[in-house]
Amino acid sequence: MGRAGTSIVRRSRPRTASRVNKSISLPLAQGGFREGGVTQEQPETSSQTIVADYARLLNTPVAAPDIDAPPFSTDLPKRDAGKKCALLLSAHPDDECLTGVLPLRLLREQNWQIINIALTLGSNSSRRMERKKEVEKACAVLGFAGALPEENGFSDINPAARNADADAWNKKVKRLSEIIAHFRPQVIVMPHANDGHATHVGTYLLGMDALALMPQDFTCTVALTEYWQQIADPNTMIAVKEDDLATLMSALACHAGENARNAYDRRFPALLIDTVRRGEILAGQGKAAPAITFGQMVKLGTWLKGRFVPSALNRVVGTSTTDSISALFA
Ligand SMILES: [Zn+2]
Repeated sequence: MGRAGTSIVRRSRPRTASRVNKSISLPLAQGGFREGGVTQEQPETSSQTIVADYARLLNTPVAAPDIDAPPFSTDLPKRDAGKKCALLLSAHPDDECLTGVLPLRLLREQNWQIINIALTLGSNSSRRMERKKEVEKACAVLGFAGALPEENGFSDINPAARNADADAWNKKVKRLSEIIAHFRPQVIVMPHANDGHATHVGTYLLGMDALALMPQDFTCTVALTEYWQQIADPNTMIAVKEDDLATLMSALACHAGENARNAYDRRFPALLIDTVRRGEILAGQGKAAPAITFGQMVKLGTWLKGRFVPSALNRVVGTSTTDSISALFA
């Protein structure tokens, strides 16, 4: 956890000279580019003040909403036949927030049904009931429904367990494929193959194994997310609206036990700011970063004829009215 600086020395008074930024190219969802001139004038501020502001914000607790939440169980929520559906495979309670950008936009902009499958309740068995309550609250804040794959969530979702006990692993794969068959989602969201944490990698393997059990003609969009390690070859950046990020932070704040150990909630906006830097990967090195403030990177593709086929398009979905999230699925 960081600590606010205590001895900020101002070597010069902040200047008030204005700066006019040059126009910036914004890749559109369709793969084109738009000249989006940013010409607002901003007074210059000393770097010491800006650093102190970052440190202050990191140390400012986020208000956790007081909300009644329906309990999760192994009974799956009813599929709403009138809506499209996204299934979010969460390795841990809190991943529904940390990787929830695309599902939240689909909910708010397209009125999709969003289901969070809390695959595990964490490795610490003494905290599982507490973490279950936390994820229930977080999903109530987000507007996601949720369910558990089995009582108290799965254990041993990692590559080593997959190799060590094929029978136990295959039972979990079968259960998850039943869940996918129940919802028949248009989109499944899960961590990417090298997400830097054994349970996240295990969630990817479980998700892909479960998809492989589906009938050969089953197809859906798959969005691979990143948290513990960046995707080496992402193809899509999804801008995060300020309102949506505020909701995601409020939901994250429900995970009080985890935030006490590591300030996941307060670090989240900084992570999404830094992700926009990597827009260069999509636009081409040397090009401008997308003209957005917060973004989450994913690798988007299609589950088709029994395998994951990554999209060949590099795209940025911005936050303007012309940047519809549904363009990803056109
Ligand atoms: Zn996690």
